[in-house]
Amino acid sequence: MADPRGFLKVRQRETQPRRPVPVRIMDWKEVYEAQEKGVLKSQAGRCMDCGVPFCHQGCPLGNLIPEWNDLVWRDKGEEAIERLHATNNFPEWTGRLCPAPCEASCVLGINQPAVTIKQVEVSIIDEAFDNGWVNPLPPTRLTGKTVAVVGSGPAGLAVAQQLTRVGHTVAVYERDDKIGGLLRYGIPDFKMEKEQVDRRLEQMKAEGTRFRTGVAVGTDVTWEQLRRRYDAVVVATGATVPRDLPIPGRGLEGVHYAMDYLVPANRVVAGEQVENQIHAKGKHVVILGGGDTGADCLGTAHRHGAASVTTLAIGKQPSVERTPNQPWPTFPTLFEVASAHEEGGERTYLASTVEFVGENGKLTGVKVAETEFVDGKRLPKAGTERIIPADLVFLSLGFTGAEPAGITEQVHAEFDGRGNVARDGYYMTNTEGVFVAGDAGRGQSLIVWAIAEGRACAAAVDKFLMGTTILPAPVAPTDRAIAVL
Ligand SMILES: Cc1cc2nc3c(=O)[nH]c(=O)nc-3n(C[C@H](O)[C@H](O)[C@H](O)COP(=O)(O)OP(=O)(O)OC[C@H]3O[C@@H](n4cnc5c(N)ncnc54)[C@H](O)[C@@H]3O)c2cc1C
Ligand code: SF4
Repeated sequence: MADPRGFLKVRQRETQPRRPVPVRIMDWKEVYEAQEKGVLKSQAGRCMDCGVPFCHQGCPLGNLIPEWNDLVWRDKGEEAIERLHATNNFPEWTGRLCPAPCEASCVLGINQPAVTIKQVEVSIIDEAFDNGWVNPLPPTRLTGKTVAVVGSGPAGLAVAQQLTRVGHTVAVYERDDKIGGLLRYGIPDFKMEKEQVDRRLEQMKAEGTRFRTGVAVGTDVTWEQLRRRYDAVVVATGATVPRDLPIPGRGLEGVHYAMDYLVPANRVVAGEQVENQIHAKGKHVVILGGGDTGADCLGTAHRHGAASVTTLAIGKQPSVERTPNQPWPTFPTLFEVASAHEEGGERTYLASTVEFVGENGKLTGVKVAETEFVDGKRLPKAGTERIIPADLVFLSLGFTGAEPAGITEQVHAEFDGRGNVARDGYYMTNTEGVFVAGDAGRGQSLIVWAIAEGRACAAAVDKFLMGTTILPAPVAPTDRAIAVL
């Protein structure tokens, strides 16, 4: 185990330093800085190597957290990355972006601040990349079986890497011009710079995974054609249908879905030319919805130089501490202060949006009322309406499911009642040989779940193709995520 008395000697939890707000909002670089090695080791040394490590269960990937905490404490970085890669294909993504349900279930968290698991994770992989310890792992022999993976987000890439490594010939189809899914064009660089996607793609290409960008399956090529051409097809197309707010004024110029703001902003940061980009410079911005997507709009609007940014949430402000109905080791819904929230803006809770108001077809404000709870329903309280001035509104109200993209007509894969592509306990749709992983099957969730599902789906595909598999299956499709968006 890491330091047997570590948790007694170091009682404080120390996370990585962040760049000062006035400096970081002037650019798009990551907010966090590397943690000093001595601090990192003493933090890893707080791990108690519990007989029953609840953190394993808290992490959907089943990451072997006490093992790598111990190795970091002993300064054995190369062994640490080997243990981390044993369960997680892409720790540089989870180490930066995961909300860390593992930390909510850390045993130390019962009466002390939890171990900084996510920070240790990202430090292990960053050190590994810096030292050249992340190398391609091509298969020793090919099976002759072929797989098409549709969608190149974390789920599709995890499926592809696992299946390539056991010898199948895998092609990833992506309708965008670049690989990465929401990691590429959804999540801003200040949370994770795109170098983190690109260097992992280099590894995957060297292992033999093939990438086909600019191909929208369902139109450019049909699902049926893919099914005929490949021995198996995996649907990893995400849950991209945004939730709308059809209230009066929805058609006014200035009311947009969050992704219509974030995607072009990411493209511009990547050096692309974007026509008619929605830009927040000098504007009063209102964001509806308080999840990750809303926080990403907030950080982007500040970097654009918005005059003001207000985030409205219809529900109550979550508690800052666990409530009795969210006991340890569950993953509680708490008041979150993401890096974007530290940078400014107002957060208003119990705010029901009733109308977008405007003049000459252009948005000028948002009419909100206090939320009241009537028979369990959240309703606007009469007589409490007020108008918040706004030039731009971003709807960040979550996603209602996967895009149909012709899949039902072309290969008869059906959707479930929640708007997701339906699958059985082995990730297969009702069409033999067509599988589904990640948000497309689960609904909008988290990167850690997408990778976990991708790994488990790869095991199911391998078994379907070969009759047996050595690939691990960390989660079943029935395991539920705690939705955060
Ligand atoms: C703005 C935003 C911020 C987020 N921040 C976080 C965060 O900080 N931490 C976290 O854990 N999670 C976060 N999430 C959630 C997380 O990004 C998703 O759960 C995760 O990316 C899902 O992975 P996926 O591979 O299933 O799908 P996606 O990442 O959505 O990838 C699906 C891919 O499929 C492609 N595709 C779709 N249809 C077709 C087709 N017909 N043909 C070809 N290609 C197709 C899409 O272009 C896309 O590239 C965020 C989500 C959003 C929207
Ligand atoms: S992937 Fe997320 S839940 Fe798993 S160990 Fe890393 S931070 Fe924790």
